[in-house]
Amino acid sequence: MNNFSFSQTQILTILGIEIDRVDFALTLDLIDAWVMQRRAARNSAPACRQICTVNPEFIVDARRDPNFAAVLARADLCVPDGAGVLWAARRAGQPLRERVTGSDGIYRICERASTRGWRVFLLGAAPGVAERTAAVLAGRYPGLMVTGCYAGSPAENEWPAIRARLAAAAPDILFVAYGHPRQDFWIDRHRAELPAAVAIGVGGAFDFVAGVAQRAPLWMQRLNLEWLHRLITQPWRWRRMLKLPVFVGLVLWQNKEEQA
Ligand code: UDP
Repeated sequence: MNNFSFSQTQILTILGIEIDRVDFALTLDLIDAWVMQRRAARNSAPACRQICTVNPEFIVDARRDPNFAAVLARADLCVPDGAGVLWAARRAGQPLRERVTGSDGIYRICERASTRGWRVFLLGAAPGVAERTAAVLAGRYPGLMVTGCYAGSPAENEWPAIRARLAAAAPDILFVAYGHPRQDFWIDRHRAELPAAVAIGVGGAFDFVAGVAQRAPLWMQRLNLEWLHRLITQPWRWRRMLKLPVFVGLVLWQNKEEQA
């Protein structure tokens, strides 16, 4: 949430974690400006910008891990992902317009990329999934330039191979699908060297685009039941999903304290 030389978004603080009050339109405009800035600067280009998609799990994790909280604080943009974040914002009297998720963001950013000529790199997910994701996106957005796909891994010994591929592909936008918080730590650790204007962690988005995993139907998303769909289709996530009721409890507790 730093480094805005041309714009300053408003900040919302939920349980001590700062989130930018942005919608998709503003997020895309910021990305646009960052890409133009980096292309114009050439040799003196600013470091790669980091976008984090903050949902209730991120917030609970950040409260438990100061290193993760520091990554979110250093990010250039923390967008409001997750119905729980919108619910907490409403309770705080600062309603947000919409969720800005990585799973929708990959489509919205690639749509803009196809009209602007941005180069896109897809990093992460299981071997072959990034390539299938690229094929789906290229079919949907004619002219989209996907200049690289690689599963790789967030392990340190993979970094030289990833760096070489990124250098050859010279992307403007780097999507990283290693799941949170690994992808966000990875971008934070390497971003001084990342040859991209913007890097965004998108979790399981490649799996959804490629059809490896099914996203909740729209009616469930609209009823804020995306978490229930994930629990039914990916029951092994139950332990980490316990963070959702923890988040709700913490928000209710904080509101009670504030009213006392
Ligand atoms: N993943 C990966 N390498 C790893 C760990 C995870 O490529 O070392 C990928 C995994 O294949 C999946 C994504 O990261 O595509 C994680 O998706 P998940 O839905 O768990 O992420 P979340 O949305 O919860 O951040």
